Amino acid sequence: MRDPVSYQRHAVPHATALVDAGTDEEWTYAELDRVVGRTAGRLWSLGLQPGDQLGVLADTSPEFVRIVHTAWRVGAVLVPFNTRLPEAELREQVRRVDATAILAEEGYAERARAVADAPVEPLPALAEEPVAEFGAEDPPIDSPRAMLFTSGTTGEPKAVVLTGRNLLSSAVASAFRLGVLPDDRWYDPLAGYHMGGLAPIVRSALSGTRVVLPGGSGFDAGRALDDLHEHDATGVSVVPTMLDRLLDAGDPPDSLRFVLTGGAPTPPELIARCGERGVPIHPTYGMTETASQVATARPEEAYAEPERAGHPLAFTRVRAVDGDEPLGPGEPGELVVSGPTVMEGYYDDPETNDRVFGPYGFRTGDLGVVEGDGSVRVIGRVDDAIITGGENVHPAEIARVLRDRSGVEDCAVVGLSDPEWGERVCALVVGDVAEPALREFLEGRLADYKRPKTIAFADELPRTASGTVDRGAVRELLAERSEPLE
Ligand code: ATP
Ligand code: MG
Repeated sequence: MRDPVSYQRHAVPHATALVDAGTDEEWTYAELDRVVGRTAGRLWSLGLQPGDQLGVLADTSPEFVRIVHTAWRVGAVLVPFNTRLPEAELREQVRRVDATAILAEEGYAERARAVADAPVEPLPALAEEPVAEFGAEDPPIDSPRAMLFTSGTTGEPKAVVLTGRNLLSSAVASAFRLGVLPDDRWYDPLAGYHMGGLAPIVRSALSGTRVVLPGGSGFDAGRALDDLHEHDATGVSVVPTMLDRLLDAGDPPDSLRFVLTGGAPTPPELIARCGERGVPIHPTYGMTETASQVATARPEEAYAEPERAGHPLAFTRVRAVDGDEPLGPGEPGELVVSGPTVMEGYYDDPETNDRVFGPYGFRTGDLGVVEGDGSVRVIGRVDDAIITGGENVHPAEIARVLRDRSGVEDCAVVGLSDPEWGERVCALVVGDVAEPALREFLEGRLADYKRPKTIAFADELPRTASGTVDRGAVRELLAERSEPLE
């Protein structure tokens, strides 16, 4: 399977492939193809071989897009590293993936050199002439195309190997759910080293449509809103907090057909806001291991059932299991996913692979329910469940109720070990609200054993480099702040 741009250069040479909203620069598929060909020539001259792991440390810019397609063209495996990782973690990731070379943007070159044994190259200059073809054979569709790290919410980030078939199946099934029109424009403010940010780049190329990248670094809601209007975006991928800020900044354009939210649960209040303002929200459940979307709700489904992430995409099967036993509709258990988007496995980690692949597919580690109509509801992570006095309490449920109290901006709920209860429910809260008022609020809304025994306050929640809540650090903070037990 050849890289998508080498198909589009014939199919839609004059269609716009890529837009930099920061500079208003644009590339047609013919132009992008030429740039990719010239980059390929340069990489080839550096000695890169098909199958080599090509590390990248760069912002999600047009340059990054050029490297994504070039890696595919030369048959290399794209390994984008999180540019926000502290040096020790980056060193560990670089070591684990056996990168042949690392392409580093100017601002990151020094860090890359400090952590890598592999040669560090600047984002390659363009060779004089494009190299269009490599060898007689196309790389097999089932060969690895990308390796991405998970967010590291539950431990060390894991390196997920995705094949051409994974990426293509994900693009096709997503298109079946969202639709594709020749004039589509997908605005992508997410980082390309996460699956959610890489997906619009790969999918737009596969469908011959355009991806629009914001200029500048960091997410600026006002700028994103302007970009969406100026470029008549038809789709956008965001995490829920970004959408909240976008809606604070103003009304998104009518051109939008889908607003994909994922990476974390989409709060029902946010879905209600979208309903009131006619924003076509598509709450999504997905993960790196499945090349992004597993299930996606259509707007009318989301407005009606805001707790659910909709039906699985075409060809994807989701079951809730207890151990190896499949559960019936409505019964909560671990969500297991099978289908053509599910990864081959984690790179060079046979033990974990043995553990996560079961009779029904990939064990996600997420707790959820498959409803009678087949739609999926995600409750939280299996391992986060708190067992207190013999009762199972799920942190996500408690956190949702806490967030309903005015003044609570954010919160995290964890269990701490407790001599009397086994574990006790504890909450770390960000916001402007007094503890007694918060306790009173919870009294009528949560059963006694579910109410946090310890509540502490912080200016912000500790987060991983990917921005998810660092529950280990929350636990440490709460352990420090809670009263010593009698
Ligand atoms: P790690 O696997 O390293 O612990 P991670 O699971 O956070 O990190 P990602 O692959 O980026 O890494 O995130 C996928 C996870 O995000 C899912 O397994 C799930 O726990 C959570 N998630 C995604 N979408 C939703 C959703 N709609 N509702 C609830 N949780 C979600
Ligand atoms: Mg995970």
